[in-house]
Amino acid sequence: MTEMITSPRTQLLEGAAVAAQIKQEAARDVEKFVTEYEARPCLAAVLVGDDPASAVYVKNKIKACEEVGIRSEHHALPATTTAVELLGLIGSLNRQGDIDGILVQLPLPAEIDEQKIIEALDPEKDVDGFHPINIGRLAMGHPAFVPCTPAGIIELLERNAIPIGGASACVVGRSQIVGRPMAQLLVQRDATVTVCHSRTRDLGAVTRQADLLVVAIGRPAFIGREHIKPGATVIDVGVNKVTDEAMARKLFGADIEKRLATIARQGYTLVGDVHPAQADEVAGRRTPVPGGVGLLTVAMLMQNTMKAARQRRGLS
Ligand code: NAP
Repeated sequence: MTEMITSPRTQLLEGAAVAAQIKQEAARDVEKFVTEYEARPCLAAVLVGDDPASAVYVKNKIKACEEVGIRSEHHALPATTTAVELLGLIGSLNRQGDIDGILVQLPLPAEIDEQKIIEALDPEKDVDGFHPINIGRLAMGHPAFVPCTPAGIIELLERNAIPIGGASACVVGRSQIVGRPMAQLLVQRDATVTVCHSRTRDLGAVTRQADLLVVAIGRPAFIGREHIKPGATVIDVGVNKVTDEAMARKLFGADIEKRLATIARQGYTLVGDVHPAQADEVAGRRTPVPGGVGLLTVAMLMQNTMKAARQRRGLS
């Protein structure tokens, strides 16, 4: 797939081309499905409250459904929704035969126990792969719905022919939605995996061993040149806002003018958990933010929804 050269050393692993390919494949599968079943796969998206970032994520997911031909339902509930009301909606979506996938946008309002809601989902419709049944199946190496962000990272690596088997991989972050499933997927593909977190001692000494470094910690530009093995592939999952021009000048290299224009236009630009200018001094390849992992997450949701529609009808 496309790899742009940014400096003599570092190649940018853009997510756009791979995401477009995955969505094209999903669109082709949708049309085949429609011909066979005279019905469209359907994704129900549930959004509780008025968090602007969550609203944008749901909008993007619904737009992707339109692009690939998946029918979507948008259930927007007020922030005052109770757990009982939300469980009622989930129960009804679980029972509806024409709904193939259910997506509950996280985070939920603090008063609602997220785990309880996730566990109420029908695991066969859990296209985010967050239900304990799917997490357990993934851990056992059995077929499962795999969380979209780590699944997308695997697609990005494989479709760019970046070796995983035998590689020394390090995942920084151990969240349920990124770090842990990422480590499982890499182990399944024969990488030797180390998982780091906030209690890891001498983080740089560990991350510098990695041929493949995946970072998902939610700390802007935290991973610098001292954390990266020369020539390593660095996958940056983080999404953080930078509003300050002086800060932006320290973070961005060649594209600083574009970044400053973005701050002037919308009040912020995005940076990952990896310091882009410093990574470009050492890394062999890295994913940009924006334009890297985020695009793949939505594409994988389309693939998972198509998979749910097929599996629910007894197809592989
Ligand atoms: P999370 O649930 O907040 O977990 C953060 C993880 O990072 C924790 O395991 C934490 O360790 C670890 N950590 C925090 N500070 C650290 C430090 N100084 N050194 C080492 N490890 C540290 O995060 P998440 O949900 O995985 O998200 C991480 C980032 O990815 C966020 O910026 C999020 O917005 C972004 N994200 C992007 C996408 C996408 O599609 N692009 C999808 C999901 C998430 P402990 O466990 O010890 O606390």
